[in-house]
Order: sequence, then structure tokens, then C-alpha cells
Amino acid sequence: MKILNLNSDTDIGANSWFVEFENHNIILDAGTHPKREGFKSLPMFNLVKNSEIDAIAISHCHHDHIGALPIAFKYWQKAHILLTDLSYFIAERVLHNSVNVMEKKQDELGIKEYPLYTHDEIERLNTIIQGFKYNTPIEWASFHKKRSGLWSPILEFHDAGHALGSAGILLRGKKNTLFYTGDVSFRDQTILKGARFNNIKADVLIVETTRGNRQGAIYDRKKEIELFCDAVERAQKRKTSILIPTFALGRTQEILAILASMTKSGRLKQQPIYIGGLGRVFTEIYDLQAHRTNRKFPDLQLRQELNLTVLEREDLLTIKLNKGNIFVLTAGMMNENTAAHDMAMRIIEQEKHSIFFVGYADPDTPAGRLKATKPGQTFFFSNIGGNLKRKCNIEDFDLTAHADKFDMLHFISRVKPKAVILGHGSDIAIRWFQEQINKNFPKVKVFQPKPGEMIEI
Ligand SMILES: [Zn+2]
Ligand SMILES: [Zn+2]
Repeated sequence: MKILNLNSDTDIGANSWFVEFENHNIILDAGTHPKREGFKSLPMFNLVKNSEIDAIAISHCHHDHIGALPIAFKYWQKAHILLTDLSYFIAERVLHNSVNVMEKKQDELGIKEYPLYTHDEIERLNTIIQGFKYNTPIEWASFHKKRSGLWSPILEFHDAGHALGSAGILLRGKKNTLFYTGDVSFRDQTILKGARFNNIKADVLIVETTRGNRQGAIYDRKKEIELFCDAVERAQKRKTSILIPTFALGRTQEILAILASMTKSGRLKQQPIYIGGLGRVFTEIYDLQAHRTNRKFPDLQLRQELNLTVLEREDLLTIKLNKGNIFVLTAGMMNENTAAHDMAMRIIEQEKHSIFFVGYADPDTPAGRLKATKPGQTFFFSNIGGNLKRKCNIEDFDLTAHADKFDMLHFISRVKPKAVILGHGSDIAIRWFQEQINKNFPKVKVFQPKPGEMIEI
């Protein structure tokens, strides 16, 4: 088995793996880098452009895993494109939105190569994409099989509990098995239940290491949620506004579910909750797919429980803030040209309002820089925003959708792989896993392939 890391960054970036598996080739994930622009945001597909790819499988619909799928499709037009049936409903919306964002960036930032793909290309891709239920065996190399009379290995998606439709990917051949966790939450979130990776056995395991850099006491989601609810109540009492920057898919719906439970118990008065257009679309899909999802509160319909109001771009700059409004807006890292970025610019220099972070923000992003400030400090926010004086209240809640590092170690011990490959994490996170695996499971080989590095197992 050969495995090639196509992510051009050593941190979480444009996630993509090429796997040569018992004479068949597959690409696992095709993401775009959240901090890079243009061609630099893509995986290194060039390295395998002359390989015949039987299939491209996508673990879930966050940009760092699916954003470059239309580009991969341009390289390998004959490949099967496989994802879960729940992701199937989401993929198209994510990609069309990407085109809109790239077109805007071409205009405003003058990035010539944008858009990297078009709405028409996504329409063509839509006729090829196939959605499958969890735990269903899929013969992913069947084109290849037809051509050469060969057999096909099997692929299965296993529920990863990270965001709607998310999956770990199992490859099973005649001699080998490989399991790729994708992004995974082993514990229940507010809506989604934890991953169902119960009976996974594999020789080779590719894992995310996101939380390997987390210090401190054992993670307690209940406590974080309680702190979050208290903070919302305090801001409401003062009639001041709260901005919660989040991913449109997953984190937004988890936050809305917490707000819905606060409304139900009378801790939060009925009022408009302002969200972005894409957040609304995914919330609708969460509601529509509620009974087909492994989740808590299958009868909870967020659009009925909450007065969700889409905040149009024009209103973003004019809506009054002194009414105790709650804004749940993308993006979590407050990149430029997002609603969260523009709303933050209105809030940062106002003492009474708040920004609540609910997930990780890379230190090199506007959100990361803002998080690192002290009250009263002037800091560089973004190219558009320039230097700002932070006066607003900032609070940080850890409502992660990623595997706790000890849970991941426990998973590794259960799977009993011969080799573990570390990805999707910072250098510090990867180093922690390397040390722990060496110490606890000395027979397991550990690899951390550099960008563009091929390993053979
Ligand atoms: Zn993700
Ligand atoms: Zn990710």
C-alpha cells in the first residue's frame, strides 16, 4: 500500500490523501486551505496527475475536505465520486457558495485565477456524485474492474459524529484494510451523537490530530455549555448584542440547539436569532434529515423553535446593536468577506457588546488575532479592517467537534493497527501523538508524511 500526503501545508490545510490500494487508486478528501488563496489553496494533485484514479471519496462537507473536489474532478473525469447520502444534499450548496465567494474575491482582492471552478462545472459534477448510506459496502473501483476484468476492493462510510453527513472511510481489500477517520467526534454534541466507529479493525489508520495540542483538564462539554448559557443570559440582561462566529455547517446548528433549549426553559426570551444565508440552508437540511440522522432530539426542528432571521449583507452594516441581538454568523475564523468579519468590525470598538468564540481559531486569522488581545489593546485585525482598538467583551467556549486526544488514543488501541499515519493537526499536536503512540503501543509504526511525501507500508 502506498499513501501520499497531498496537503501542501504541515498544519490543517488542503486535506487530501492519495492511496494506492491493492492495484487500485483512490483519493481521500479534496479540500481547500482555509488561510490560503488561489492555486496555493489547493492540494498537490499535480503529483499524481498521471495516475488513473478509480474513485474520489469525501469524508464531509467542510471546505478543508471538499473545497477542491471540482478541481480533482477536472483531473480525473472517470473517477467515481463517493460521499454519504447526507453529505450529498450539502455538497452542492457548499461548492456553489465557494464559487460566489471566489468571484467576490476576484473582484475585491484582484485574485486573477478566481473562480477556480464555475457553477456550470458543479452542475456537471452533480450528475456524477453518488451518495451512500453509512455501513454500506461499495465497489469503488468498478470502472477499473470493467476495463480489465479485475475485482474491486470495498469502501464503507462510518458515521463520524462531527457534522451532518460526516464519515470515516474504510477500505477493505483481499489482504489489507485502511481506515481514515476524517474529522471525528467520539462524544455526543448537543445535536449529533458521537461517532459509530465501534467495530473498526484496520492494518493502517489515518487519524486527525487536531486536539493533540490541547492542554489542561479533561474536556467537559456540559460545563462549557453551562458557561456559555450564563454568558448569554448576562448579555441579555444588559441588552447588549452578541456575535458568535461559527462554521455554517455543524457548529451553527449545535449553537442554535443550545439557544433553542434556553428558549424552551425560559432562560432566553423569544426573539429573532440572526443567521447567514448558508447557515439557514444547512439548518433546514439538519431539520429535514432529523429522523435519518443519528442524533439527540430527533423531533427538535430548529426553524420552529427559534425565530431564525437571515441577515442580508445590507442589513449587516445598519442593524441596530442596542437591542440585545444575537448573531450566529460565518465564518469561525472571521476571514475577510464574511458576515462575521464585517459584524466584528462594528462590535470590536464598542465596550458593551460581546463576541463569543465557540471553537478553534488559527492565530494567523482575524479571529485568532482578536482572541489574543487584551481589553483596550490596539491590534491588526485584517487587511480590510486595519488596526482596531479592542474594547468589546470577548469570551471563549470550547464547543469542539473534534476528537479529544485521549479518546483518539483509546480508539487507536481498539483498532490495533500495524501503522498509524498522523494528519490534520499542528506540529505540536502531531508530535504529541507520535510520542504517546511510541510510548503506549511500541509495536505500532507511526508516520507523519510531509507535504508531497509518499510512504509505503
Ligand atoms: Zn470538519
Ligand atoms: Zn477538517
